[in-house]
Amino acid sequence: MPRKIILPRELEGRLKGLTSLKEESNGILLYRKRGDLCPIEAIYITGVGSPGHVQADPEKMEVANQFFQNYPDYRLVKFHTHTKGTVAQYGERYATKFSEGDIEGVKEQLRQDPEFISMLVTPEKTLLSGIDNPQLDIVERSEDYEKNHEFVETELKDIADDLEIGHERFKGTRLS
Ligand SMILES: [Zn+2]
Repeated sequence: MPRKIILPRELEGRLKGLTSLKEESNGILLYRKRGDLCPIEAIYITGVGSPGHVQADPEKMEVANQFFQNYPDYRLVKFHTHTKGTVAQYGERYATKFSEGDIEGVKEQLRQDPEFISMLVTPEKTLLSGIDNPQLDIVERSEDYEKNHEFVETELKDIADDLEIGHERFKGTRLS
């Protein structure tokens, strides 16, 4: 059985919202596996780039890595967007397909981690790539979603606070 990515409608809306920006973004979808089901609990955006290009911010990756160390039963789907800006600049095929560069990137990641799943979100489509051809199921409600969602968001925020990440506006005025 291929894995089934269960994506709550609310999170799908947030991902689609990102495609209406000019800049591409990337990040991770966090879940805990239940058999073949992968119910997504939260989104964590790790990078914002330009049309056709996005890289993860190392500080955001540090927060995510710490989360997975603290909670090893969590796994991730890596996502990135092709935005309206990408499609305007590079053409319609970016609205419907992974780019050549994306496909090379996925192959490389699969060599390191056979369970790796990549998601591409465009203004038109949401595509998945993985070794077992994982399927996407968008749901109105997911069991325990609110509780799990809040847990993940709170933990990510606490980890960022502990690492003093995302506090740019305080830099230079910190006394200690
Ligand atoms: Zn891409």
